[in-house]
Amino acid sequence: MTRKLALESSPIELVSFADSDFLIKRDDLLDEYFSGNKARKLSYFLENNFPHIKKLVSYGSIQSNSLCSMAALAKLKQWQLEFYVHNIPKWLQENPIGNYAKALQLGARVLSWESEDRDNNFSSINNFIQNKENKSSDTTLLIPEGGHCEQAKYGIKKLATEIQNYCHTENIDNLLIMLPSGTGTTSLYLNSFLRHSKLNLSIVTCACVGDDEYLRKQFSELSDDPMDWPKILPTKKKYHFGKLYKEHYDLWSDLKQQTNIEFDLLYDPIGWRCLLDYLKDSPHKNILYIHQGGLIGNQSMLSRYERKKLNIT
Ligand SMILES: *Cc1c(COP(=O)(O)O)cnc(C)c1O
Repeated sequence: MTRKLALESSPIELVSFADSDFLIKRDDLLDEYFSGNKARKLSYFLENNFPHIKKLVSYGSIQSNSLCSMAALAKLKQWQLEFYVHNIPKWLQENPIGNYAKALQLGARVLSWESEDRDNNFSSINNFIQNKENKSSDTTLLIPEGGHCEQAKYGIKKLATEIQNYCHTENIDNLLIMLPSGTGTTSLYLNSFLRHSKLNLSIVTCACVGDDEYLRKQFSELSDDPMDWPKILPTKKKYHFGKLYKEHYDLWSDLKQQTNIEFDLLYDPIGWRCLLDYLKDSPHKNILYIHQGGLIGNQSMLSRYERKKLNIT
């Protein structure tokens, strides 16, 4: 991997969808392995030197964009990545695709937490790893799930600056900014920077992984000042993260057709649904949606949709 990495300065494009105009921050056009917010969240680790580190340890879901991005980070840094997942489904082990396949190609070791010694009483995977790695070890770097850590601020600050610069250049003084949340790291840090702007920028998000309560808890782990927390738009329906919904596929495919942009299939259908519902009652003139990448993950999502025949409109 000797390519030049693009970890910042993505374009903003105007598109039309469902008879409205939207600006799209194209973070999906950043580096393919670090696409979207993973590029922003991990850029601190890419751009700084860690001379003693030999191994990167993290955990999360087996098809997550995080897995692929951390594998790319480790490869570039010549670290060994050990990535813990709850379990590795047999079908995926036999036919790796998507983020899991890319991560293996990049040399990642994906370990099933379930196959590890369970005699201990560790309540969470995080404790388990910290004990196993013995926190004092100075050759191991532990990055929490999804880059949910203070270091993520570094790259997200650049995202905030790019948005502000765009507003200045285009004479926009009023902007609604939407991005769906997983761990909430990107939306929280973005809001913590932009709420101090002289422009009238409001950041809204929605909870895709757990409920609103879970997302607020995630926010509170990164900042105890509730002013830093972005507004959470309600999801009218309860969705289970990673499950297939025909309405998600249909919205995703309408987006693709009308905007010529491929969005992600896990977060974006929920994000757009919430945004469109919100705009019905609170119309805004200038709206920016942040595309956070994740297109490698679409490979496995699409094959699941095909197998279930939910992709027929
Ligand atoms: C990781 C990811 C998210 C969630 O980002 P958080 O900072 O964890 O809230 C959203 N969309 C895509 C495409 C992602 O890969």
